[in-house]
Amino acid sequence: MKLHTLLYNDEVFASNRLYIMQHPDRSATVVDPASASEVLEFLQKHDLNLAAILITHHHADHTAGIPELLAEYPDCPVITGKGVERQIKQANHILQDNDSMTIGDINIRAMATPGHTLAHYAFLTNTGVLFSGDCLFRLGCGRLFEGSPDMLWTSLLRIRALPDTTVICCGHDYAVDNARFSLQFMPDDTALTEAVQELVQLESELRLPYLLGEDKRSNLFLRADEPEVMAAAHCASSRDTLAALRRMRDNL
Ligand SMILES: [Zn+2]
Repeated sequence: MKLHTLLYNDEVFASNRLYIMQHPDRSATVVDPASASEVLEFLQKHDLNLAAILITHHHADHTAGIPELLAEYPDCPVITGKGVERQIKQANHILQDNDSMTIGDINIRAMATPGHTLAHYAFLTNTGVLFSGDCLFRLGCGRLFEGSPDMLWTSLLRIRALPDTTVICCGHDYAVDNARFSLQFMPDDTALTEAVQELVQLESELRLPYLLGEDKRSNLFLRADEPEVMAAAHCASSRDTLAALRRMRDNL
């Protein structure tokens, strides 16, 4: 499998990232298409068929491209996790938590990661790539639109338990804003400062995907159980720390 990371043409989706997995049999799987035109253009340019559409959660900036893609590829399966299909009527392959399935030359496993939305799934490939949707972002995490801080913390812990070498393909690039927020919050944190110094030198196209190990050291939202982070947030539990961080980040 060859992984492609693309930007959308429309300014509305400036922070969204489009991930396409190219399989050796001249087919490709697209993850969370916000719009179809970039996908169709890519498939045409590389002479590929659409093998599958993979959906992490119901928000329009992750799903709005589905109808147009299906108009072109009516037999293409739309895969998601249990609960997401309630709002995405085109979904026809529903995975339970921990279910896996083969697409082209890879295997994917669904991981329930609720919090941003009540039904939210990350998908882990057997090659060590995680499509984290709007659960985990570089140096950040998704907003709590539907779930509780407890739910999101459990989801983040699940992702944190994966190997450091896991390649994180997250739904948005908010890395620079997350870096600014985090440094304001903990200006003396060495791991964070080093991560931010590295990050600001990267062209935006190179900021994603990234390695989970980097975030385990630097992402405050993944470190909400560290005494120093809890103390800085004036909270006694990791759940409250995460909630406080998220609240402050919402108001940045
Ligand atoms: Zn979302």
